[in-house]
Amino acid sequence: MSNDQSAMNELHWLIDMVQTIEVGLVVLDRDYNIQLWNGFMENHSGVSPNSIKGGNLFEKFPDLPGDWLKQKMESVFLLKNRTFISWEQRPYVFKFKNYRPVTGRADFMFQNVTLLPLASLTGEITHISIIVYDVTDIAVNKLQLKSANEQLEELSQTDGLTQLHNRRYWQICMEKEFERHSRYGDTSTLVMIDIDHFKQVNDKYGHPAGDKVIQHIAYLLKQSLRETDCAGRYGGEEFAVVLSKTTAEEALHFTERLRKRIEESEIAFENRLIKVTVSLGINDLSEQLDNSSNWLSGADKALYIAKQQGRNKSIVFK
Ligand code: GH3
Ligand code: MG
Ligand code: MG
Repeated sequence: MSNDQSAMNELHWLIDMVQTIEVGLVVLDRDYNIQLWNGFMENHSGVSPNSIKGGNLFEKFPDLPGDWLKQKMESVFLLKNRTFISWEQRPYVFKFKNYRPVTGRADFMFQNVTLLPLASLTGEITHISIIVYDVTDIAVNKLQLKSANEQLEELSQTDGLTQLHNRRYWQICMEKEFERHSRYGDTSTLVMIDIDHFKQVNDKYGHPAGDKVIQHIAYLLKQSLRETDCAGRYGGEEFAVVLSKTTAEEALHFTERLRKRIEESEIAFENRLIKVTVSLGINDLSEQLDNSSNWLSGADKALYIAKQQGRNKSIVFK
């Protein structure tokens, strides 16, 4: 075989590969005129290389994000550096339909795209190559994982800010305790806690400081609990506790101790010391209660009275 012939063969293989590779390849000149359009691009766009060769990319595909893509390409020409466009930044550059049955959930192809400067023999950047990778499978998996994680968080038992039980899980604890009472007559007491004038804390020190205060109160609360008690973050700056095998009178000792600890403590936030107080409503299980929501609303009413009577108080529901 002559040298010429083997060089021709090599070129032939190369062209074959460029045509059949499962990656999109486009070459543009300095004016965005299309010089190469491989089989992948043809298959997914339905536009043949012959009908498009020499045409301007942005005229042939008016749906492309023109200004944005031109800016990227100009910086590739200028800086002679490649650029990556990830699907997370922009799901696709070329809007191609997705036909893959496995990833049936996406109706377009997610793409990672590389813009590659092509130098002439003199080192000048005369052309740019667009390389398009189909990352639909990866993207769909990642998106599904993300939504599964969000659902798990929703279902989980813990409040992210305080690590106390979240409201839903606390509610389950509380209802179980109520049933135990109905069956075995165990005495338990429910306590609702609400931070006083908390809006002012946010207004004066900012929302992140407010979060720190919530965390600190939760920390003091956790320290005062026994193994069998069940505490949760009931709302923004509201906490709810079930003290098992505890009478209202005993609960009052608990709440007063906690109330004083909170009143005395200073919460450091960015060189400032923040002081807050809480109000507490107490309601024990009595024979008159016919459901768990009455148990809760009694504690809520007592809390309301504590607020009315000037805050920084524990009140037992009567
Ligand atoms: P009161 O003494 O009557 O309870 O007055 P308050 O200002 O505490 O009033 P209220 O309980 O109605 O207001 C609660 C405020 O807590 C409203 C909201 O802006 C704020 N808040 C709720 N959740 C969060 C949170 O997660 N972080 C922060 N920083 N603030 C929260
Ligand atoms: Mg409140
Ligand atoms: Mg409050």
